[in-house]
Amino acid sequence: MPELPEVEMARRCLERWAKNRRVQKVIVHEPRVLGRGRGAGLGALAGARFTAFDRRGKNLLLTLQKGGAPLGLWSHLGMTGKWLLRRRSDEPPRFSRVELLLDDGAILHYADMRLFGRLRLVPGGDFGRLPELGALGPDPLRDGLDAEYLARTLGRVKKPVKLALMDQNVIAGLGNIQASEALFRARLNPLRPARSLSPEEIRRLKRGILDSLQHTLKKSQIERLARGAGDIIYVEERKSDRAKAAEGSVSDNPFLVYGRAGELCPACRRTRIVRVIQSGRATYYCPRCQPGARHLSPSTSRPRATRRLSGSTAR
Ligand SMILES: [Zn+2]
Repeated sequence: MPELPEVEMARRCLERWAKNRRVQKVIVHEPRVLGRGRGAGLGALAGARFTAFDRRGKNLLLTLQKGGAPLGLWSHLGMTGKWLLRRRSDEPPRFSRVELLLDDGAILHYADMRLFGRLRLVPGGDFGRLPELGALGPDPLRDGLDAEYLARTLGRVKKPVKLALMDQNVIAGLGNIQASEALFRARLNPLRPARSLSPEEIRRLKRGILDSLQHTLKKSQIERLARGAGDIIYVEERKSDRAKAAEGSVSDNPFLVYGRAGELCPACRRTRIVRVIQSGRATYYCPRCQPGARHLSPSTSRPRATRRLSGSTAR
């Protein structure tokens, strides 16, 4: 599922591909990406020119101009949404749901295998009215992160800190992967109640979040350049997230702990990474570098530790 770094990559790509380009024609192959009861579709984009490319959390906010007036296009990538650039002579990508034919002969494809992503016209480009944006927390890349805000907000939350970080109203853009990675960098146990963090731990968490996002963003760009493709390369949650991440043999895994259950912790090199399930999603951490889980109620997670862990940590 695209998280903040991947959506930011999508934003940068769209800006490079479509800035000042005029949409000549819109083809909607799959109306479901427009959501239910969402009016007249995307036809009004025809004749409009892309001018601005913004993002808040996982929301892409694209502004076009048509007849001297702004027109907004909101795009959420859901679980498998991608923007792809193709020439008109190219084969369309798999799962292309919408095509925007541009005046330079290129086509922007919105592809989405699982169809959880959404596109919607926003009259006047007035994104502030979108209900999806109303309660969003700060976007760490766009707005920065304030330790006082984090302390105040997390201080009210009883649930485990990993789940609090995935709440878009706390911080916009973090998902399952980034939350695990940020907590590892901050040396904080993901099962701890969010409100149990000390001011010093909050500061570490803030650093961990920003470092993890920057690392992934850099990695995404590198991979993209290396492949020489016009496509955005997402760092994706693999199906192994549920099934076989324990083998941890994925050579291109750019993450420190995510998908690495059973591997030696890259920080201490003494303990193996553990995988637990929190609210149906896999969490990875090092019990030595991120201590504290054993003090918590087992009901907060279903243990699924690898064998060969020392008994004190696997629970
Ligand atoms: Zn460790």
